[in-house]
Amino acid sequence: MKKRKYKIMMLACLMPAVCLLLSGCQNNDNSTSRKVSAVSEVPKRISGGVQNKYLLNLGEVRELDVAEEEVISFQCNKPEVVSVSEAGVMHALKQGAAKVTIKVSDGQKVKKKVYSIKVKKRGMVYPSFSMMKGEHLDLQFSLPDVDAMWESKNPAIAEVSAKGKVIARKKGSTRLIAETDDGKKYRCDLDVTKRLDSVIYLTFDDGPNRYSTTKVLDILKKNHVKATFFELKPAVKDFDLTKRVLEEGHTLALHGYQHKYEIVYRSQKIYHDNLDKLRNLFFQKFGVWCTVSRFPGGSSNTRSRYNPGIMTKLTGKIHGWGYHYFDWNVDSGDAGGARTAKDTYQNFKNGILKGRSNVVLMHDYYKNDKTIDALDKMIQYGKKQGFTFLPITASTDEIHHGVNN
Ligand code: ZN
Repeated sequence: MKKRKYKIMMLACLMPAVCLLLSGCQNNDNSTSRKVSAVSEVPKRISGGVQNKYLLNLGEVRELDVAEEEVISFQCNKPEVVSVSEAGVMHALKQGAAKVTIKVSDGQKVKKKVYSIKVKKRGMVYPSFSMMKGEHLDLQFSLPDVDAMWESKNPAIAEVSAKGKVIARKKGSTRLIAETDDGKKYRCDLDVTKRLDSVIYLTFDDGPNRYSTTKVLDILKKNHVKATFFELKPAVKDFDLTKRVLEEGHTLALHGYQHKYEIVYRSQKIYHDNLDKLRNLFFQKFGVWCTVSRFPGGSSNTRSRYNPGIMTKLTGKIHGWGYHYFDWNVDSGDAGGARTAKDTYQNFKNGILKGRSNVVLMHDYYKNDKTIDALDKMIQYGKKQGFTFLPITASTDEIHHGVNN
């Protein structure tokens, strides 16, 4: 738990918020028996008339409303869901429920009070984040039409524009804080790490499927390597594969709800919907807000030429829609020239370069033994050569091809 103290009490704002929250909590209670007895139980307050239930958006910060007694300590049973500072400031880190136990003294006795905290899935997407020196991040909300004003507690470590564009300046930790037009406060706890100059980002397109995804994941797990999966809409029976990708710490990224060139590049709107639809599905199913994407065929594709200029338009618009896009600078050839696992391995070996970021294109399609049988060797080779394997994140420097349409 961080020890920083905040002076964000605004008593004038607190009372309406308290009333709103109490009614919000009641509405969430669907049990009939509770509703019958609710009249005597609600408003559920502890001595001193203090609110003891909170509903926070993801990334939100709020001060616990504690009565005048002297507080000895705050303890949260799930610090991964909500952290509580020594000053009683909560920070919502993950969707879920938690209990905060507060020990207070009235001068004679020590008493315990338990507060219930719920964190919603929606809010500010990056309650805590790590980025390398020199990287950029755009702070995003998974809520519509949020107007936030951002500032950095330590601009020497990371600068942030009022609109939430972050630049990591030097190694260290800082906090980025925002107030939104609806009076809520949000925070991103940011770690800036040193810049690594020889990095390999392994990327797998077109998954998931039961044959390849499990094998790729097993190899990555064995080698303690995290990668990036640019997925299509999974078959319903394969949602568990996407879940496994996330649980094992890889980046889930968007290739599109569907892949058909003759459909997805018909118009800007169709392409935009093809991304939004998959992002919304993943958010609904898994609670992750995906912003990293890859165009089917890459941004340099010529398959879209039936719609002249579409790639120029899409690459110009996509960041404004809240997405990042990644092409590649190393092609394993597993969807093209490579015939065997040996070819794929050679393409990898010849393609990776020291002193830069290497984004390696591979495929997670059914029966792709050319990659599955080469992957372990690729990782061993890369490690031996001193490369670091990392997953792509929202702040990774984008690798772009030249656009041909
Ligand atoms: Zn593809």
